[in-house]
This record gives sequence, structure tokens and C-alpha cells, in this order.
Amino acid sequence: MSETAKAGKTGLQQGIQLCRVCFKNSNQKQHPDICPNCSNPISLRKKNSLQKTWALLLTAVMFLIPANIYPITYLLKNSTLYPDTIFSGILSLIDSDMKIIACIVFIASIVVPILKIIGLAAITIAVHFKYKLDPKKQFIAFSFIEWVGKWSVLDLFVISLMVAVFDKGNLLSVYPGIAASSFTLVVLCTLLAANSFDTRLIWDAQNNE
Ligand SMILES: [Zn+2]
Repeated sequence: MSETAKAGKTGLQQGIQLCRVCFKNSNQKQHPDICPNCSNPISLRKKNSLQKTWALLLTAVMFLIPANIYPITYLLKNSTLYPDTIFSGILSLIDSDMKIIACIVFIASIVVPILKIIGLAAITIAVHFKYKLDPKKQFIAFSFIEWVGKWSVLDLFVISLMVAVFDKGNLLSVYPGIAASSFTLVVLCTLLAANSFDTRLIWDAQNNE
């Protein structure tokens, strides 16, 4: 039942499609919509992959603005509320001599999301305009972006840890601010953007069909 693909040509050129559930190949003409092995929906490429990736990337960029200008945490100390944005939070962590945590927060909340958005946008642009680039290198870059992007969840973990550790009643408490929700949406949108991107399009862009 499984079709054997020949080396040197893409599955698209040979009319062979890969099921992303059971990882079996099948002939697109014989089985246009349903995988003959596991009966899950199947197609040669993810539908509207580039459009979905663009939409999610632009949404991530939009949420990046409130995530950085609004307070991500509120520190309640002696009945006074001290708001902290991502950046001022990093500065106060440095002031409190917690340089390692400051470094983790800086990498997880500023460097990783921005690099991920720029990296994904660069690969999507290259595919969109069919730039002649090494597809293997693009794929490695994509896999790295996808792997590194997961670490931005670390920032939310640090916030939830701070909320749990500092919650000592009215004397000293930490509350998440509006930027925490925006930041969660940035992370979610970039994860979904990477997921919507069909890596096979990288090879299609080089073949100019
Ligand atoms: Zn299948």
C-alpha cells in the first residue's frame, strides 16, 4: 500500500504524499483526501501554509508591543503596588544582584521571541519569493528556530514561580500584569506559526514548478 518515492525528485513531482499521522507514503491520484493506511485527512502540502504562517507572525508582532510596554508583573510591597515591564523587571533583577535570572529572562522574553519572528519571517520570505538558497540549510535553520522557540515559555515559568514564591500575603506579593497575557499570545502565535509552515515548501521554492 505504501508508495516508494524515488531519490532526486520531490514527492510533489512524483505525486506521492506523506501522511503526517502514520508517516506512510501514498499515491495522491489514488487517494486524494484520505490516507489509505490510517484514514486521516491527507494532502500533498499543508493547505494555505504560507498565508497562515504570515497571519500568525503578524499577530505575534502585534502582541509583542503590549507585551513590552505594559507591566508584566505587579509587586505589592508595604501596601504599595510596583509595576514592572519586561525591561524594567530585568533591570531590577540586575539591581537585586540576580544577574543569572536577569539573563534567563532577557534571553527567554526578548531575544528568543524576536529571533524566532525574524527567522521565521526570513524563511517564509525566501519561500514566498522563491529565492535560490540551500534548502538543507533553510531546513536546519527552521528546525533550530522551532527548537529554540520552545524556551520562551521559560519566561512564563519564571513569572509563575515568582508569583508562587513571593505570595506571602499582604506584605509582599507578585501579580501577573496585562503584558503576561500578551506575552503568552506572542509565544502561542509563534509556536502555531512554526507549526503552520510546511517545510516541504522550502524544496518546492527551489524547483520552480
Ligand atoms: Zn496515515
